[in-house]
Amino acid sequence: MATSGTTLSTGLDAETLEMVLASLREFARARLGDAVLLDLDARDEMPLGVVREMCGGELGIQLLFVPEEYGGLGGGAFDIYRVCEEMARIDLGVATGVLATFLGSDPIRVGGTPEQRRRWLTAIGERGLLMAYAATEPEAGSDLAALRTTARPVVEDGRAVAYLLDGRKQWISNGGVADLYTVLANAPGGPSWFVVDRDTPGLSAGKPEDKHGIRASNTAAVYLDGVRVEADRLVGGVEGQGLLQAQAVFGYTRLMVAAFGLGAGWAALDRAIPYSAGRVVAGGPLSEKQGYTHKLVVPHAVRLEAARAYVEETAARLDASEGGLNTEGAIAKYLSTEAGCAAADAAIQAHGGYGYTREYLVEKIRRDVRITTIYEGTSEIMEMTIARDRWQAHLKTRGDHYHEQARSLEEQAAGSPDTGAAAAALALHALAEVLERARTGRLTRSQHVLLRLGELIAEAEGAASLARRAASAAAGTLPARASTRFDAPALAAMARVRARDAAMRVAAEGIRLVAGATEQLDAGGLAAALRLPAIHAAQAGLAADMDLVADVIYGRA
Ligand SMILES: Cc1cc2nc3c(=O)[nH]c(=O)nc-3n(C[C@H](O)[C@H](O)[C@H](O)COP(=O)(O)OP(=O)(O)OC[C@H]3O[C@@H](n4cnc5c(N)ncnc54)[C@H](O)[C@@H]3O)c2cc1C
Repeated sequence: MATSGTTLSTGLDAETLEMVLASLREFARARLGDAVLLDLDARDEMPLGVVREMCGGELGIQLLFVPEEYGGLGGGAFDIYRVCEEMARIDLGVATGVLATFLGSDPIRVGGTPEQRRRWLTAIGERGLLMAYAATEPEAGSDLAALRTTARPVVEDGRAVAYLLDGRKQWISNGGVADLYTVLANAPGGPSWFVVDRDTPGLSAGKPEDKHGIRASNTAAVYLDGVRVEADRLVGGVEGQGLLQAQAVFGYTRLMVAAFGLGAGWAALDRAIPYSAGRVVAGGPLSEKQGYTHKLVVPHAVRLEAARAYVEETAARLDASEGGLNTEGAIAKYLSTEAGCAAADAAIQAHGGYGYTREYLVEKIRRDVRITTIYEGTSEIMEMTIARDRWQAHLKTRGDHYHEQARSLEEQAAGSPDTGAAAAALALHALAEVLERARTGRLTRSQHVLLRLGELIAEAEGAASLARRAASAAAGTLPARASTRFDAPALAAMARVRARDAAMRVAAEGIRLVAGATEQLDAGGLAAALRLPAIHAAQAGLAADMDLVADVIYGRA
């Protein structure tokens, strides 16, 4: 079942993955049609039976992330991304119900003892247990270190035989319906994960939250009043590993939410595209009006595909056993979820007044996708994570980090000049110069500047990633499990559009940030350092490329 290729060493073979995706689509067609989804949304109801069927006998999605040695399929990050995207295309609320089990089992998968892994991962695989991942508290969200839930050891004969958990968890997906909870609590040795059964005395859940979106998911507070768990439920058997265990899977878990952004964003665009082909306004279909397509469809498709390129690169690296990748997970999540929200918003606009009504579903998708920039780390926390890490890379390489990546893209541009690599290289060179000005001017003392740099870094890296993906597609070297929606020429056109935009944004926003914090600005010197004339010259051909992307999207190419 597992593949053993050179670049993708973990996970399903492409054929098995396609079968899983096809079963998921078939299941959704039969059980989660538009009318059902609208009804669940209106009634604010989680379809618990459907989620149980997905995570149990009928579909068995949970087997994807259970290792083969415990009876699962042993899927890798790439498989999980593809499946998460597909689930999000169907319904983000239902997808969140499944995600909670993925997340809930992660501390065990990563930090559990062999016995704990065998015990619970086998049970999840065989019995389709629904899980909840209970980390957040009323006063500890982005800042998990502020958590107040306690785990007091029950000591007998000088050793802890059990723990008593006390506290309150907030906004927990599946909080009111899970069979098994992983709960983060402060033990004497520090934050630690505990595995808690639903029927343990002292554990209870609040009423489901009345949410803006993902109303087909259950989100509830979880109360812990003297909940006794035996010591063998301390994940990893050692106190104080909780935050490290949570960190260890961020690369992976944020990729899942990134996939949600892709799935929901495309689900919205894929409603706007046929709608605009059929809607005749002022004598012709909207799909033939550039002012419409080049604002409401093309840029969003391009942003989503740049995000996908980054997701796929990160997934491949995770599957090749490159550990950590927290920053890459953050970039993937940031790019995909921001692009997904923007695409869904544009899809409402693209439907005009109809988009503002419930019937056309884009209104629901827009509300649903909004959560993806909040949970599993907000966009602002992503910006901070990205900026801090890449800032260190800039300092360690004495400013060469992004110049070096740019040079590698320039080599690519020499071999495949049409893949946007040259413009992406300009974006990276400009980024390196902006970071250097930020260093000499001590601009990152301003948190605002630091976070805005995080955004620019993500944009430039995303553009570079799409340029690489376009070159791989042209060379026929994309991973077998990669999405195949767009062919090589289409990806190349998208990469050119994205790279030009990224170069312009890095330069313009970079100048704004530097100028905004500098008393005596050498504007000419800054423009030259950022290679502004070259960035302007690189915009040539943008209009034709946008036309080309529109033609591909509307099947006219
Ligand atoms: C529907 C839903 C489902 C969820 N599911 C789960 C779940 O299953 N398990 C779980 O553990 N949690 C879950 N969460 C919680 C979620 O992960 C948190 O809401 C999120 O991490 C943000 O934390 P917070 O709500 O406390 O916001 P805060 O941390 O208070 O943030 C508020 C705002 O301030 C910004 N901010 C925070 N810190 C900084 C800073 N240092 N500098 C600048 N800006 C900052 C944030 O970006 C945000 O815009 C869920 C939340 C929702 C709404």
